[in-house]
Amino acid sequence: MLGFSIPKILLLIFIILIVWYGFKVIEKRTSMKKSRSSDVNSANESSKFKDDDIQDLEKCPKCNNYFIPGSECTECNPNK
Ligand SMILES: [Zn+2]
Repeated sequence: MLGFSIPKILLLIFIILIVWYGFKVIEKRTSMKKSRSSDVNSANESSKFKDDDIQDLEKCPKCNNYFIPGSECTECNPNK
């Protein structure tokens, strides 16, 4: 029987099942971690954009410089 016997084959199948199950558990854990971290990242990004005061810059018609709306162009009015 080339050294094979039913107990050895059963043991081999048992070991394969343990390795396969362990791999499955590890894969599940990593996928859970990934989904959790992605959820945290998306939450952080949304809250970050809510908290920040984001303003669109206005383009100066004279010098094409971009400046904060409400104030004057920093290139045309460097002293202000
Ligand atoms: Zn300007």
